[in-house]
Amino acid sequence: MSEQQTGRAQVLHPLVRRVLAPNPSAFTFTGTQTYVVGQSEVAVIDPGPADPAHVEAILAATRGETVTHILCTHTHHDHSPSSRPLKAATGAQITGCAPLALSDDGPRADASFDAAYVPDRILGAGENISGPGWRLQAVATPGHTSNHLCFALPEAGALFTGDHVMGWSTTVVSPPDGDMAAYMASLDLLLDREDSVYYPAHGEPVKNPRRYVRGLLGHRKQRESQILRLLGRGEHDIPGMVAQMYVGVDPKLHAAAGRSVLAHLIDLNARGLVAREGEGWRLAA
Ligand SMILES: [Zn+2]
Repeated sequence: MSEQQTGRAQVLHPLVRRVLAPNPSAFTFTGTQTYVVGQSEVAVIDPGPADPAHVEAILAATRGETVTHILCTHTHHDHSPSSRPLKAATGAQITGCAPLALSDDGPRADASFDAAYVPDRILGAGENISGPGWRLQAVATPGHTSNHLCFALPEAGALFTGDHVMGWSTTVVSPPDGDMAAYMASLDLLLDREDSVYYPAHGEPVKNPRRYVRGLLGHRKQRESQILRLLGRGEHDIPGMVAQMYVGVDPKLHAAAGRSVLAHLIDLNARGLVAREGEGWRLAA
């Protein structure tokens, strides 16, 4: 993994190359991984953050080829902004996830969303795009964000999982747009599939997908029991729970961990297991 360099395409499969963007952080691990799918006529998945050097790297990786589609799994700032300069440079269609729906039943967006994202075509669940020798099919996986899509490449037994399943860490589920119940349902959905490898936007390929997803589901259920146990002991606020649940985790990630705890509490509340009490939470009577 330390071998991976920014700016240089790495071949993972005859139909799959990846280009690492230069945006490592506590949230993005080594950075966003942009995937190039196909040969000669190619699709680019998750073009990445607004960074001219990264756009240049994608163009260099696809020199002599035609980029026909630019797909985004979702519209966080580290995934979709380069769709625009890449479209300008290649003429490719921006295809894939919907712009984030700003619904009137509460705030749905936050600072990490790319509000300028405009797709030429939105792919619904099960819809396909294709090129010579490849096909990409949209798999709706809301949870991390409400507009999140994974893309299946049946020719490689692969699923591009964006931030739904990552190869290095659990996914942040941050309300109001992030939804724990939807996220868990979207993990369940993957258990019914036959993919043999996941290519995540962050972290190494996942080569044992079902076992990995079962691990993620188990981890979330464990977090849920921890929350219920802490509430039972009289803990009632999120910072207090995070301090006990995320011992040894980089404190830079504690705010994000708090968002995931909130997502669990909202889900547990909807299931009638916990209730709000003032600024905090308690077990439902
Ligand atoms: Zn994201």
